Amino acid sequence: MMMDMTMDGFSVTKKPGRVLVTGAGGFIGGHLVGELRRSGLEVRAVDRKPLADWYQIFDDNDNRQADLSHADSCKAAVTGIDTVFNLAADMGGMGFIETHKADCMLSVLINTNMLVAARDAGVSRFFFSSSACVYAADKQTTADVTALREEDAYPAMPEDGYGWEKLFSERMCRHFSEDFGMITRVARYHNVYGPYGTFEGGREKAPAALCRKAIAAIDSGNKELNVWGDGTQTRSFMFIEDCVLGIDKIVHCDELIATAINLGSSELISINDLADKVEKIAGVKFKRKYDLNAPRGVAGRNSDNTFIQKVLSWEPSTPFDKGLAVTYEWIKEQYLKRKGGQRVVE
Ligand code: NAD
Repeated sequence: MMMDMTMDGFSVTKKPGRVLVTGAGGFIGGHLVGELRRSGLEVRAVDRKPLADWYQIFDDNDNRQADLSHADSCKAAVTGIDTVFNLAADMGGMGFIETHKADCMLSVLINTNMLVAARDAGVSRFFFSSSACVYAADKQTTADVTALREEDAYPAMPEDGYGWEKLFSERMCRHFSEDFGMITRVARYHNVYGPYGTFEGGREKAPAALCRKAIAAIDSGNKELNVWGDGTQTRSFMFIEDCVLGIDKIVHCDELIATAINLGSSELISINDLADKVEKIAGVKFKRKYDLNAPRGVAGRNSDNTFIQKVLSWEPSTPFDKGLAVTYEWIKEQYLKRKGGQRVVE
């Protein structure tokens, strides 16, 4: 079961010119390329992964494998390009970012070289994918959080490694706008989930990880669900369709001048709620095992959508139950494919 991923109101169709999506072999990049293609745009898609490993690939596209931490690769990538969607980053869920802080910070090379190359090539718009990990730690100490407004990123104390890099790159975008007149747009995503995303291997985020663990537990007959932390930590989760639509709206919003904006759902979910929802979809009650030594991130985080509502009269609205059911089914399909077509025992 897949949702119809074709969206109404994708305004990018009005914009001529060629677009570049970096990180196109990844989760959000793959969906964005698909939507841009469906809008009739020519897309150049770049990722450092071999094409065979891209989550989604569109054969008649300009697909390229390149490491964008190098200035020459960025220069080649932006040649002839009108709009850049810069999504490439070395990232993952808490299990990855808490143990790969230097790797996360090295994404600054991608963002620096991409900004310079885009400026030198006269690119007309540059979009940067930031993260809710830029928000100051002292505003996320309880599960029952006050949702974060854009100004809550300062005074700065972001997520160590990954968050610092995102905050620094956000500021670079702002200063490239101020000093060089390049139009930049910055969205702070709050946990994105959906089909064609990472669900295993160590970079996956909580919704995909719990779906996969549940599917594997059902398959093995050992009905235990390993939950990281004590399950009380809260987050908001944005379905991929909302994310891609939001990116398009933010890129083309003329009121957003060099200002970072939240792009996230405001539906607050605890990890225990998430596990309950996975159980409901799976139709199985698991014995939960809480791993208190596993990475768990901040105690609570939610997106305050006052600003996005004000400038776009829109906010992500896919109910978590609906998006999670689609995601669970997709992960189950992948799991079954891996098993060579055998049915999972239910
Ligand atoms: P992803 O890991 O699926 O995709 C990122 C892609 O970037 C990968 O395919 C990777 O191979 C590519 N990449 C990494 N280094 C590269 C390099 N040097 N040159 C070229 N390509 C390179 O991640 P995603 O979930 O699609 O995230 C996309 C963007 O959104 C990232 O910037 C990420 O930090 C940001 N973001 C994502 C989330 C989320 O919940 N998924 C939340 C906040 C921010």
